[in-house]
Amino acid sequence: MRAVLIEEPDGPLVLREVPRPEPDGGEILLRVEGCAVDRFDVAIRRGVRERATSLPHILGHEIAGTVVEVGDGVAGLSEGDRVASTLDLVCGECRWCLRGRETICERFGGHVGVNVPGGYAEYVALPARNLVPIPDDLGMPEASILANAIGTPYHAIVVRMGIQPGDRLVITGAGGGVGLHALQIGLMAGADVMAVDLGRPKLDHALSLGASAAVDPTEADLAKAIREWTGGVGADGVLELVGPATMHATLNGLAKGGKMVIVGSHTGKDWTIDPGDVYRNEWEIRGSRNVSSDELRTVVDLVDRGLVDPIIDQTGGLEEAERFQQRVIDGVVIGRDVLVP
Ligand SMILES: [Zn+2]
Repeated sequence: MRAVLIEEPDGPLVLREVPRPEPDGGEILLRVEGCAVDRFDVAIRRGVRERATSLPHILGHEIAGTVVEVGDGVAGLSEGDRVASTLDLVCGECRWCLRGRETICERFGGHVGVNVPGGYAEYVALPARNLVPIPDDLGMPEASILANAIGTPYHAIVVRMGIQPGDRLVITGAGGGVGLHALQIGLMAGADVMAVDLGRPKLDHALSLGASAAVDPTEADLAKAIREWTGGVGADGVLELVGPATMHATLNGLAKGGKMVIVGSHTGKDWTIDPGDVYRNEWEIRGSRNVSSDELRTVVDLVDRGLVDPIIDQTGGLEEAERFQQRVIDGVVIGRDVLVP
């Protein structure tokens, strides 16, 4: 099969002919028909020595395709089924997995496309427990982004934050692939949304999708803007996709009793916080990681019913992998670019 390989740490993406994988017990062999390109792929590529198990390595964790072969011990999926995949490698047996919280699996095995070969290829072998059936009329590029670009904010906003109708929700990184879908999920849940991102094109896109305010934190005092937007009360919820670059301001813009859910932190690791502010305001600060396969089923249903619209920018063959990653680095992608091998 054809696959895009990293052959050296931070090296070029190279299109090669490699052996087609065989599904082990509990696995499915999938014909990849959509694999989205994400900032995470770029991070893995740059840190491949630390993150991936071995070289050469195949990236890609946002995958949809058709089942072509079923490994031993797999029930409920058969050849020809169209499916989307979650990205975490989980055990399915620990106390958290048994309670439906596989995103904090005790025996977390890493991610598809990091710790096992991913979807920048014509075929990929994946654990059957990661796969969720999709409707016949849902496109594969759209299906490929369900778990990460849509499932991640679904888990964060609906499950972890517990957003309520009428809540005022601030989303940082709202113009990115996860952010634009987070915005749709916030609106679907009945929230009023402020989009925070860099540059007019991303903010205008967020406004066109229904955000009621949009702020570039390099051009305005973000905490003050949040206070003004909420009539001095502060935001009921903050979805943090950015990290320390915005977290000081968004926390200062949080209402009493407000919730901050942290999903990403690509702007650093250090963040200082006054514990007194947390207890005096009874703030809730929570983490949120990816999405469970059960929640992915809900996401599939929401998209099928037209309540959330997967936003695809460009699609292209495996030879486009390098260009698509550069577009991610350049910050010009609206939604997601998707490889269609
Ligand atoms: Zn587990």
